[in-house]
Amino acid sequence: MTCLECKKELGYIDHKKSMDSMGVELCAQHRKRMEMLVERNNTPKEAIRLYYGLKNVGVNPMLEWWDGSKFVTLAISRVKLNIEIDTDLQLISHERAISNLEDAMHSFKSGFTTIRIPHVLIKHYLNETIDNVLGIMDGLRANAKVI
Ligand SMILES: [Zn+2]
Repeated sequence: MTCLECKKELGYIDHKKSMDSMGVELCAQHRKRMEMLVERNNTPKEAIRLYYGLKNVGVNPMLEWWDGSKFVTLAISRVKLNIEIDTDLQLISHERAISNLEDAMHSFKSGFTTIRIPHVLIKHYLNETIDNVLGIMDGLRANAKVI
């Protein structure tokens, strides 16, 4: 058990605290930093799991990146890919749906692609989710060359 950020060895208490609050292994210092971010942006736990999952395969996403008008939950700037995590899927209202669509439109206009991933997918199928994000990145890279 080591911290995903600094590779520091974690004791049982730190391990448990971090898994309970963040769902990933972080030392006390890095957990606190992440908790502040989560509190500020209401970031879902799954975003943090996906963030570290992507880092683990060599992708460097940015967590809660300010794009000039809003915070993007995960942004992969090299391929201009924004990832939002959808929670409470059953409760989506038409206002929310329109607002999501508008977000996607604004992103496209500035050359960014936005994908929305249901949080349950990350919870239960993290590896498959990561594989698909990698595939999307390949696709975006290939398209960028054509243009
Ligand atoms: Zn650490």
